[in-house]
Amino acid sequence: MQHDRTGSVKCSNCGATMESQGVEQFRVGGTTGGWKPLFGEWAELGEGMIPMEVYVCPQCRKIELFLAGRE
Ligand SMILES: [Zn+2]
Repeated sequence: MQHDRTGSVKCSNCGATMESQGVEQFRVGGTTGGWKPLFGEWAELGEGMIPMEVYVCPQCRKIELFLAGRE
């Protein structure tokens, strides 16, 4: 998988150029606790929102998520 600064993302499944669907806010914390292994201390901050950029492959419809807002 490649994610460069031009915004071009290649599908790891079929190699097509993925299309950005923009940034979505994912809720973490609260009652589930299932985010801890993925996000560590972020999940321990309590309930919060993590911004993730969503990419969709137009060819095979695979979805990739990238953390947004972290340079
Ligand atoms: Zn694909």
